[in-house]
Amino acid sequence: TDLAHIRNFSIVAHIDHGKSTLADRLIQSTNTVAERDMKAQLLDSMDIERERGITIKANTVRIDYTADNGEAYVLNLIDTPGHVDFAYEVSRSMRAVEGSLLVVDSTQGVEAQTLANVYQAIDAGHEIVPVLNKIDLPAADCDRVAEQIEDVIGIDASNAIRVSAKTGIGIHETLEAIVKHLPAPKGDATAPLKAMLVDSWYDSYLGVVVLVRIMDGTLKKGDRIKMMQNSSIHLIDRIGVFRPAMQPVESLGPGEIGFITAQIKQVRDTRVGDTITHEKKGTDTPLPGFKPSQPVVFCGLFPVDSAEFEDLRDAIEKLALNDASFSYEMETSAALGFGFRCGFLGLLHLEVIRDRIEREYNIELITTAPSVIYHVYMRDGSMIELHNPADMPDLSIVDHLEEPRIKATILVPDEYLGDVLKLCQDRRGIQEDLTYAGARAMVVYDLPLNEVVFDFYDRLKSVTKGYASFDYQLMGYRQDHLVKMQILVNDEPVDALSTMVHRDRADLRGRAMVEKLKDLIPRHMFKIPIQAAIGGKVIARETLAALRKDVTAKCYGGDMSRKRKLLDKQKAGKKKMRQFGKVDIPQEAFISALKMD
Ligand code: GDP
Ligand code: MG
Repeated sequence: TDLAHIRNFSIVAHIDHGKSTLADRLIQSTNTVAERDMKAQLLDSMDIERERGITIKANTVRIDYTADNGEAYVLNLIDTPGHVDFAYEVSRSMRAVEGSLLVVDSTQGVEAQTLANVYQAIDAGHEIVPVLNKIDLPAADCDRVAEQIEDVIGIDASNAIRVSAKTGIGIHETLEAIVKHLPAPKGDATAPLKAMLVDSWYDSYLGVVVLVRIMDGTLKKGDRIKMMQNSSIHLIDRIGVFRPAMQPVESLGPGEIGFITAQIKQVRDTRVGDTITHEKKGTDTPLPGFKPSQPVVFCGLFPVDSAEFEDLRDAIEKLALNDASFSYEMETSAALGFGFRCGFLGLLHLEVIRDRIEREYNIELITTAPSVIYHVYMRDGSMIELHNPADMPDLSIVDHLEEPRIKATILVPDEYLGDVLKLCQDRRGIQEDLTYAGARAMVVYDLPLNEVVFDFYDRLKSVTKGYASFDYQLMGYRQDHLVKMQILVNDEPVDALSTMVHRDRADLRGRAMVEKLKDLIPRHMFKIPIQAAIGGKVIARETLAALRKDVTAKCYGGDMSRKRKLLDKQKAGKKKMRQFGKVDIPQEAFISALKMD
């Protein structure tokens, strides 16, 4: 296809504003998929994505569209992940296209991720076509929402397309706007090959599949290519496009988006954002701005049933093949036995991996508290990277600790500003900037990452009713007064509950944790002391009273079915418990104990 007849775009939206439904309608109305193969949310393939309504990996579809001007166009839609954990992947996939449809629910208006995502699109230099969705609903208020888009985002919304992705109103107009208002890609077919590696994943039949956007040059089956990041050479054995099923093509030229396979063994060997060129007569200048995504959050994953350790190893190895940003190493815990210390891009990433292990591999897990990487400087001048609080060396040989800091940018409607400032302040933040963007305040904070990885995003959403958008960048390491806090249950330290905390916040944190644990741990036949301690000094203590009665006692013996239900429930509860000495601690305690609210 010649460049003038290609349009590449993504759809940006806040969650639930109708991105997937709109994508479905665009695919359906252009007969890209036969009617009988059409199913809702065609591009969201993984179960977790469907259930949580999030898109984790970019998905792509090529649509043929004959416009009102009689000319045939190729439209490539790349669906991008919508979460801050995957910010790097979003920014790369945005750079693979020239325009975005900005979908805003006309009954809701601009929301948190609308902003975060549209700014990514603006940063990538996109032309943006605003779409007001859900106009079939009586609560739709298109004029107000259009005005809000202009005020808050600062783009012209006077020609915003009014759409119902549900009923199909405005779909034709949307396709016409893509052709008319989004720019055609640029590129030189005769220049040396420059292709962007947009995404890659493991397919059980084809092996590693790589999604590419051709910038310059042409890619054909049989070509020998070089990944510029590590200079590895591969032979292309398949090349094609997504409709959205895979369809082979002869070649891909400038402006085109498609996939290749090249007998690449593991997804780890492909890096999102890398530049692909030819082995011979390739380019010397890679595309700008490549950086591999690094895990920033670490936690332990242990099987509830220790007999499942080998199964867990197998599951983790398989998932890692498919996800270069997920790292792991074996770990042993006195309390939890054998497991793995795993690294993630963020908390959603952690949750997704944990869910997949539980669901696809059927292994019940205990997840320990997420932690960041600390730099521990020893008296002898050496430095170690601490991934796990349990490995903290003895204080007598430690000189000082440094922790990672981030620069966080938060956009929030005025009325919630006070709550946001308080939250950031509570998390040891240092305010760097406060300005206004339309009716929104924009605050920039320097924050310790360890105060953010755990539940900051949840708290931010809850104090702002979902109206805050949040984005962050890692800034580097800084020294602070950090200590390891241990939790003792029935006088025994539970290593999996150890955390690194700032000394000034340790008392508060310790008290909150022991109070939480008191609620989370069921009563036993004996009294259980629960304590928080720093270096042997107890800073908080609660006592869980002994159980007095049999749980079934209140059933008076008569109602057998009720009695059985209670016992069954207790049994199910048991499975999710882990024994520490004489005490059963429920699985959820390892995460819930740290939530601060
Ligand atoms: P996404 O999270 O942005 O991908 O949103 P979805 O496409 O999954 O849509 C979220 C919800 O809104 C779903 O229940 C859709 O059926 C519904 N929805 C999407 N578009 C429309 C629309 O135009 N009208 C109405 N009434 N509902 C819609
Ligand atoms: Mg969706």
